[in-house]
Amino acid sequence: MRPIIHWFWRDLRITDNTALHSAYSRGEAIVPVFIWDDTLLGWPHTGSAARTFLARSLASLEKNLAQLGHRLIIRRGSPEVELLRLVRETGATEVHTNRDYEPQSVVREQRVAEALAANGGLLRSYKDLVVWEGREILTGSETPYTVYTPYAKSWRTRTRQDPWPKLGPAKNPVRGNLPSLSVAEVTPSAPPAAVHYPLAGEHAALESLKAFLLSGVFKYDTARDFPALTDGTSRLSPHLRVGTLGIRTAFARLTSAFPAEGGPGSVGCRIWENELIWREFYNQVLANFPQVATACFRSEYDRLKWSGTRGQFAAWCAGQTGYPIVDAAMRCLNATGWMHNRLRMIVASFLTKDLLISWQEGERYFYEHLVDADLAANTGGWQWSAGTGTDAAPYFRIFNPASQGAKFDPEGEFIRRWVPELKGIPTDLIQTPSENPLLLARCKYPAPIVDHAVQRGRCLAMFKAVGEVPSKL
Ligand SMILES: Cc1cc2nc3c(=O)[nH]c(=O)nc-3n(C[C@H](O)[C@H](O)[C@H](O)COP(=O)(O)OP(=O)(O)OC[C@H]3O[C@@H](n4cnc5c(N)ncnc54)[C@H](O)[C@@H]3O)c2cc1C
Repeated sequence: MRPIIHWFWRDLRITDNTALHSAYSRGEAIVPVFIWDDTLLGWPHTGSAARTFLARSLASLEKNLAQLGHRLIIRRGSPEVELLRLVRETGATEVHTNRDYEPQSVVREQRVAEALAANGGLLRSYKDLVVWEGREILTGSETPYTVYTPYAKSWRTRTRQDPWPKLGPAKNPVRGNLPSLSVAEVTPSAPPAAVHYPLAGEHAALESLKAFLLSGVFKYDTARDFPALTDGTSRLSPHLRVGTLGIRTAFARLTSAFPAEGGPGSVGCRIWENELIWREFYNQVLANFPQVATACFRSEYDRLKWSGTRGQFAAWCAGQTGYPIVDAAMRCLNATGWMHNRLRMIVASFLTKDLLISWQEGERYFYEHLVDADLAANTGGWQWSAGTGTDAAPYFRIFNPASQGAKFDPEGEFIRRWVPELKGIPTDLIQTPSENPLLLARCKYPAPIVDHAVQRGRCLAMFKAVGEVPSKL
């Protein structure tokens, strides 16, 4: 019998893994392989924090496979070359893998399929990253959805897919000593020092999911917008990104945790489900409109004349804008590789609509620093915030950073955690310390680098120059 190669990518787990399950259920030996592809795992395709988390997740996968008697083969280089080499070394003719929808991955998968076919092999790719992919959910006119709410409504009418079972013990192990690198040999040599990585691996992901579904999810509706709370959201995004948590597992376990509709906690569960569907939504947007990775979904906005300066961008990156909630959020990102969703929206609105700097600049900065950096969600979130994307917040809805701070960090607890200069500032001034210039000077915190009211007007004018402004304004 010929072995089957399972090519891991964004599915670093042995449970609920579609392609791996399919390879194993065929009864032949499996050769699990991860190819450290420097093109896709290097900048700008993968940020350094996310790359390090991936390497740690890979180490955990290797251990989990070994416990079942499978040996993970790690290679470095171009997948079509390495997979062909492995096909020759093992006598396999089939390579199984799970699909990824990022444009570069799509091209790469195509190249691998062609290279294998030219050599008598076959690439079988499976849907695994999402429950519903690409063109599986379409509007009544057979086009992909570009607005979330009707997409989610349609998504909910469909039958759920059950998670796949855990991989079984190795059978018919492949003979010979296949060359493999160690995880340490491919791990980035200088991971960003300050980042607080979540525990990596499938076990850690399932434990986090379990803990969240025991309590956090039931108060998600009231807690999810408050960044000072460390457990207001699940913090599962890094695991969903590298696939140490399977999406069918997340949905299935949520369904089991769901209280009776209308019962206590059911609203929180429903809203958390919405978030998982946002993930589905942005993946299908990226699959159907790959241009959103770099360009505005609404192409007229590619003509926007962004006028912010390099100095302003540097102040935003460093958390030195003089707007406490923005600065606290950016300093938290720089120090930990993490930013709460509410803060992502606030700083993205501030960069694009107050500083008038293009969303692409912010998107790249996030991509480099976030542990959960994910092309579909990041470009989706940035274009939503900038008002240039599918389902975008209209460009004339401009967050006021001080009011956002007052609403979602009312006591200034999060601000004081990350902007220690403001520790002694009274709560009624914490969002707007510049109202008391003497106090501001004493705590050595910068004055606002722009005036929100002035910039709001400039932002509207910038958008107006390339499109319609609604008559109600
Ligand atoms: C400007 C901006 C940039 C973003 N960049 C990323 C990114 O690079 N990677 C990333 O995973 N998410 C990104 N998001 C979405 C969201 O902020 C994070 O998914 C969320 O903060 C992760 O925290 P959590 O796991 O505790 O989420 P929870 O609130 O517990 O939600 C559960 C899961 O649902 C998914 N999810 C939640 N919100 C969204 C959303 N708006 N879009 C897509 N999926 C969502 C995530 O997989 C998340 O883990 C971005 C949002 C914005 C506004």
